[in-house]
Amino acid sequence: MDHDADTIRALDKAHVFHSWSAQAQIAPLPVVGAEGSWFWDADGNRYLDFSSQLVNVNIGHQHPAVVAAIQEQAGKLSTLAPGFANDVRAEAARLIAEVAPEGMNKVFFTNGGADANENAVRMARLHTGRHKVLAAYRSYHGATAGAIALTGDPRRWASEPGMPGVVRYWGPYLYRSAFHATTEAEECERALAHLRDLVMVEGAATIAAIVLETVVGTNGILVPPDGYLAGVREICDEHGIVLVADEVMAGFARCGEWFAVDRWGVVPDLITFAKGVNSGYVPLGGVLISDAIAATFDDRPFPGGLTYSGHPLACASAVGAITAMREEKVVENARRLGDDVLGPALRALAEKHPSVGEVRGLGAFWALELVKDRTTREPLVPYNASGADAAPMAAFAATCKAEGVWPFVHFNRTHVVPPCTISDEDALAGIAVLDAALDVADGYCTT
Ligand code: PLP
Repeated sequence: MDHDADTIRALDKAHVFHSWSAQAQIAPLPVVGAEGSWFWDADGNRYLDFSSQLVNVNIGHQHPAVVAAIQEQAGKLSTLAPGFANDVRAEAARLIAEVAPEGMNKVFFTNGGADANENAVRMARLHTGRHKVLAAYRSYHGATAGAIALTGDPRRWASEPGMPGVVRYWGPYLYRSAFHATTEAEECERALAHLRDLVMVEGAATIAAIVLETVVGTNGILVPPDGYLAGVREICDEHGIVLVADEVMAGFARCGEWFAVDRWGVVPDLITFAKGVNSGYVPLGGVLISDAIAATFDDRPFPGGLTYSGHPLACASAVGAITAMREEKVVENARRLGDDVLGPALRALAEKHPSVGEVRGLGAFWALELVKDRTTREPLVPYNASGADAAPMAAFAATCKAEGVWPFVHFNRTHVVPPCTISDEDALAGIAVLDAALDVADGYCTT
């Protein structure tokens, strides 16, 4: 099919109902191709993908080994009900368990991240016989009923009242500390004390799970201070609470580790994943299950399932992606990018631009938090701004796009989240464009 740009736009407008959007107010770019860190539209404009689409194309676009794995599987066996055993399904699960922390050996496959979180909560509730789930304010866990109820950000509001039993807590975020902390150590200690208090007053015996994004993604790339995850692990152990690490965005090389928890040596009870597992070439997510929780369902049926759990095309793409990531050392490359390229270059931008309040991140997972005033830390646009209120960020994004960089923008932040395979040259060229766009952001500063 080779529709021209206008035909694609017209058909899209007439028939495609887009996520999170007022349908009459959007003009989606008609994209026709992609390779590596780049994609292009039907008019021939090329964009450096500084958002990895929705932070999922960790291995880059159109990786030949992943494309070939899908093509080969399509010719062999395109679909299979979840009740059967199958070579690529078994191999994908084996490979995922192999790169997972010790003692996590089983995988329940889902279609994406939201349903992975739904099923993690279901497992935690059945394993513990308890119902409450603690989830962070600064979080996103997906848009299905349970996952949106876990979600802390404003995308939840329209779906309320949601799943009962969710209790919200503040995670660590020193730049805008909920605890009036002034150092990482203080933030860590106070965030843990807050969580302990919450467990006390909610009643430990009612709490099935504490859910967290190991490194908070869309809500700010919030890297936990050293000791925080270990502290949460300790609280969970003390009270028999299941620790669920949502690594849908942070996992599979994004943080310079297979799983972000590896950076702190903490082993959760359940890890949810999606996105980077196969870079989204075919929809896939899943729950990695500790041996203890898996044993709960040895002689008791697990009351959950999906027609496409362990879909052969998705599993083949995961086998292709994980194998290529190993061979090409994509995890190591993401770590090096963070340490040697993205981190230093972004910190240099902060030196130059008064609108940059903070630079934070690791691996290929970075945020620039933009402010009107560095002293007061007033955000460049208000929390959850839209329309005219969001104009400064819209102007920043428009400048990036006009210069051929597709940015990730959320509230008053831009996230620098290119494929983990991006070349140093492309990464630095993209950051040079951010440099120019930050001149525009600087124009909105009040000091
Ligand atoms: N969890 C996290 C941390 C995410 O970032 C996302 C999506 O952005 C999800 C869950 C939901 O994943 P999906 O959109 O595949 O349902």
